[in-house]
Amino acid sequence: MIGLVPDVVPLPAETNDLRIAVREFLAADRKQHRWEPRVDSWISSWDPGFSRRLAGQGWVGMTIPTEFGGPGRSHLERFVVTEELLAQGAPVAAHWVADRQVAPALVRHGNTEQRERYLGRIADGSCYFAIGMSEPEAGSDLASVRTRGVRTEGGWHVSGTKVWTSGAHHSEAFFVLARTSDLDPAHRHDGLSQFLVPLDSTGIEIRPIKLMTGQHHFNEVVLDRVFVPDEMVVGTVGSGWRQVGSELGFERSGPERFLSPQPLLDRVATRLDPANAGAMATLGGLVAELIALRQLSGSVARALSGNESADLSAAVVKEIGTTYEQRLVSECAELVPEIRPDPDSADDLSRLLAEGLLHAPGFTLRGGTSEILRGVIARGLGLR
Ligand SMILES: Cc1cc2nc3c(=O)[nH]c(=O)nc-3n(C[C@H](O)[C@H](O)[C@H](O)COP(=O)(O)OP(=O)(O)OC[C@H]3O[C@@H](n4cnc5c(N)ncnc54)[C@H](O)[C@@H]3O)c2cc1C
Repeated sequence: MIGLVPDVVPLPAETNDLRIAVREFLAADRKQHRWEPRVDSWISSWDPGFSRRLAGQGWVGMTIPTEFGGPGRSHLERFVVTEELLAQGAPVAAHWVADRQVAPALVRHGNTEQRERYLGRIADGSCYFAIGMSEPEAGSDLASVRTRGVRTEGGWHVSGTKVWTSGAHHSEAFFVLARTSDLDPAHRHDGLSQFLVPLDSTGIEIRPIKLMTGQHHFNEVVLDRVFVPDEMVVGTVGSGWRQVGSELGFERSGPERFLSPQPLLDRVATRLDPANAGAMATLGGLVAELIALRQLSGSVARALSGNESADLSAAVVKEIGTTYEQRLVSECAELVPEIRPDPDSADDLSRLLAEGLLHAPGFTLRGGTSEILRGVIARGLGLR
């Protein structure tokens, strides 16, 4: 039997105290700072003040070891914290990418200079990152990226165009995947490298792309002979593909792959008539799926805590979780047919429903589309 996903083991009892502490913090923080729960808050709700307050509790960059300036907590503890943050729709977008994947990548592949420059500030909630992988002609097939890194004295000149770069207009730096040697058709994944590029570097232009909601979240980022010193190459030149692959376990397995629309479900549940058996059955079905997904994602967090490879199980979490998220939004819309979705409404259910409907198409695209994930899973099962 192929181990497609790790064994499910209940979360340790000692994480309960942490969960309660996060809930209490969120209730008090929301009351004091008056933020509203949002669908997709990890993408949409950019609030540096919140990130710093959360970091003050030791809950940003949690898995950064103490010797690198972090709290040195486990992936399982981070799982509990992120579950609570997303379930409440808290404004976590500012630190999200830095916390989720940049910090683990720098712990794993970073050099001393990179760790010293960034890890402590990620953990104090003041340093934000974006990810520059996708390009106009390279999304699913990242091996075909056209951004080039060309050797120059003391470093590299990086040129190309990145697209769908979430939060680049607010971030300090981004990870750029670039080709550093010519494409070898027999080994397409070789010759790629990762660069850590400050977004205020000379030669960078950040162009906004507006969402359907009218919000500015995405960008196109053009790099024109941007000088990147050698010390800002992440890991090993030519090993970019392998390094990006090892980040995917973090990127695809977390609670943001099934909890993005959770504030909508919570709000809908309060409007339903308990005597409506059909509505209760739909609600019960969604909650049952949620419980299964939590167990699956938690088991991957446990595997990551034990430094086990989680690429395959992360693909399973993301494929099932994001399909569930999309269905949740459409079933919520059917459960409250009297509610007109309006992103600007003062009625929070109307607003959350609009956010859910407008964001849902992206759930199964970002971080690898469902078709690509099914291919990864099929390969893991030995079927292709
Ligand atoms: C909300 C959101 C945030 C994002 N943020 C970022 C970010 O911060 N940084 C970043 O780099 N990117 C980001 N992206 C981009 C995202 O990673 C890409 O959209 C995704 O990888 C798909 O690439 P593409 O859009 O070029 O689609 P394509 O790769 O062109 O795919 C188009 C369609 O063809 C299908 N397809 C492609 N290849 C195959 C195949 N081999 N077999 C079967 N079907 C296939 C796909 O499943 C899809 O349905 C974001 C996207 C979204 C929606």
